[in-house]
Amino acid sequence: MTVPANAPVRAPGGFPVVGVIGGGQLARMMQAPAIALGVQLSVLAEAVDASAALVVPSAPVGDHADLEAVCRFAAACDVVTFDHEHVPADVLAALVSAGVMLQPSPEALVFAQDKLAMRRKLTELGVPCPEWVVAQTAEEASGFAARVGFPFIAKTPRGGYDGKGVQVVRQLSDLEAWLGAAATQVQAGTGALRDGILLEEMVPFVRELAVLVARSPSGQAAAWPVVQTIQTDGICTDVCAPAPGLDPEVAAAATRTALQIAGELGVTGVLAVEMFDLGVPPKGAGGDHPAYLVNELAMRPHNSGHWTIDGAVTSQFEQHLRAVLDLPLGDPRPHAAWTVMANVLGGDYPELYPAYRHVMARDPGVKVHMYGKGVRPGRKLGHVNVSGSSLEDCQARARHAADYLRGIIDE
Ligand code: ADP
Repeated sequence: MTVPANAPVRAPGGFPVVGVIGGGQLARMMQAPAIALGVQLSVLAEAVDASAALVVPSAPVGDHADLEAVCRFAAACDVVTFDHEHVPADVLAALVSAGVMLQPSPEALVFAQDKLAMRRKLTELGVPCPEWVVAQTAEEASGFAARVGFPFIAKTPRGGYDGKGVQVVRQLSDLEAWLGAAATQVQAGTGALRDGILLEEMVPFVRELAVLVARSPSGQAAAWPVVQTIQTDGICTDVCAPAPGLDPEVAAAATRTALQIAGELGVTGVLAVEMFDLGVPPKGAGGDHPAYLVNELAMRPHNSGHWTIDGAVTSQFEQHLRAVLDLPLGDPRPHAAWTVMANVLGGDYPELYPAYRHVMARDPGVKVHMYGKGVRPGRKLGHVNVSGSSLEDCQARARHAADYLRGIIDE
């Protein structure tokens, strides 16, 4: 695979080139703050029409698992970061040996790439997590079921996203296919199940939260307010910033946990810590009953932070650039009492633009962000943000705009 010659053109004035491996919507949304900061972006894109390749002039096409393509791409950049967590360990190691500045480092990134490594590390750090084990055999899975009961949750340690690679196990036979695949992969030492399957108790959460923080290589850190995320069929569909009704002490503790994780793991750039809110402790629970458990980590801008583009002094995309360049971080405080983000998912209509006229005329306060992606049912195509002083009003307006763009309402 050869990388085409559209390498980044350096701007005068000593401005750096930030390389992003992966040309999805996250890389695309880094382009606006990169323009404002005068920083050049270069994106290693999956295809010429990848979301970010449509807006970043330097977007060579190459496979993130192709060592030669990735190394050639990285050689033209001052710092390299990621749009996703799927770059294989051998490619990351080759980049480090070639002297490429990777942010976050492979040592930190592994905890976002591998849910087993993440569970082991967070448990070691004393961070509250669901009960978990790793299982390779039906006996091990059955032992876990005896401990936590059915249903429980099974996860592929690597390669999952948007709920793919997450399974509710109601009886052991639900795990048969995965255990079979795990047995083969454990023996071969390759594949998403090569270390076995991650089993977790089914957490009786009242809602899902996310804490977004950023940390620079110098160790400066900043945190946005804790948000509530709403998932539908495993996909994040709505985010409320800040999380409505969250006890300020719990919010402060959750933020401390996220900052602790960022520091102990040596994360650089944006870190999203997804959490389960356990609500009010059950009667008789001791004083050490946790208010939340950590679900998973992402070391890049995250869907739970899209609200920051319009709702915070510094967006997660600008902050990620500042952090990976080891610049002082920006102010993460919100502009408004509430900002609600609603994802625009693909529906049945292949054309989205005709819906703009109605959405914009109906509500001039709605901010629309589209990713340049072709419509497929359920695919994340864009999002809308609405800020204001009433949560209910923001929710209704954001939902209306997202549903109208999707084509499931027509007035
Ligand atoms: P992905 O990497 O695909 O986003 P997650 O681990 O975040 O996978 O799981 C996706 C969704 O599945 C979560 O947002 C949550 O709704 C549900 N889920 C995951 N783990 C558990 C658990 N241990 N208990 C209850 N629900 C869970």
